[in-house]
Amino acid sequence: KMNTDIGQHILKNPGVAQAIVDKADLKQSDIVLEVGPGTGNLTTRILEKAKRVIAVEQDPRMAAELTKRFQGTPAAKRLELILGDVIKMPELPYFDVCISNTPYQISSPLTFKLLATSPSPRSCVLMFQREFAMRLFAKPGDKLYSRLSVNAQMWAKVDHVMKVGRNNFNPPPQVESNVVRISPKNPRPQISYAEWDGLLRVAFVRKNRVLRAEFLGTVSVMEMLESNYRTFCAQNDIAVDDGPSDTVVPEATMDIDGGTEDNEHDEDMEVDEDDDLPDFFKEERDRKESRAKENPNRKRKGKVAELVRAKVKKVLEEDTGLADKRARLCDEGDFLRLLYAFNQEGIHFS
Ligand code: SAM
Repeated sequence: KMNTDIGQHILKNPGVAQAIVDKADLKQSDIVLEVGPGTGNLTTRILEKAKRVIAVEQDPRMAAELTKRFQGTPAAKRLELILGDVIKMPELPYFDVCISNTPYQISSPLTFKLLATSPSPRSCVLMFQREFAMRLFAKPGDKLYSRLSVNAQMWAKVDHVMKVGRNNFNPPPQVESNVVRISPKNPRPQISYAEWDGLLRVAFVRKNRVLRAEFLGTVSVMEMLESNYRTFCAQNDIAVDDGPSDTVVPEATMDIDGGTEDNEHDEDMEVDEDDDLPDFFKEERDRKESRAKENPNRKRKGKVAELVRAKVKKVLEEDTGLADKRARLCDEGDFLRLLYAFNQEGIHFS
């Protein structure tokens, strides 16, 4: 009995299973990570072409099936089965290629996890729901353009491999699927994943708002940037003037947005992207947060808040001229310019 709550839709078309493995261009020396092997329809084909398969399966019953399938065969020695939730694994083992008929519930966190993996795998051939696949390809201005799109295209080349109709699965899922290949750029762009993704998180909270409103108009964002700025100063021996502000600091709550009719619909389109922070990023953030709380001199709306506010305004209005642009229209170059300009001012996102 399949558990569709965790995405158990077995691929029943052998032609599709073979095509997925063929598209991965496996080498005899490859170590392959397979996420959610299920009964092993892909696993058996991967084992024919690669040196070793590390299969991560959450469901003990499926894991037992898989073990039974290969027991006593020569391939068994080259198959390592890890029982557990791949998303909860603090660190993925080394692998050259990832292949997965992905359980759709984890599409987003799995993609972010693969993009953050260093050293980067050579490629990832993944089956996704069609709409999710379209989000990977979306360009600035497209309806589906999101933090996922920018991240995928920043760290990797994304290719469409093939469409797969729902009737190729047992039981058939609700939606059509696409196989995509994500080939991480090699060498990896020399920027911090945490900084880059941190900036995108802020920019895409409401992707229809102009960046000025996204940054200066959101209390939690300004608090985060102030806290990070204090950490930055502490680490670089920069003295901060913690006195109260001489002037009245504008309230960060006011809506200085330039009219966006369809803000409300944004959230429907953002599919649970908030929990996919890699663990190292979460830990780093937690550490920084507790350090910031421990600081007895920490005062909001003091000179530091005012300074950070002025820096953010300068970056948006003068350095980049992007203050009036909306995240949904910004391309990779815009975000890179923003991150560079912010970092130049000591403003950090992680
Ligand atoms: N690979 C098989 C195939 O193509 O026929 C099965 C694919 S099925 C869509 C997804 C598999 O992923 C299921 O076996 C399910 O138990 C497993 N799974 C679901 N969530 C998982 C997770 N978080 N970590 C690891 N495996 C998971």
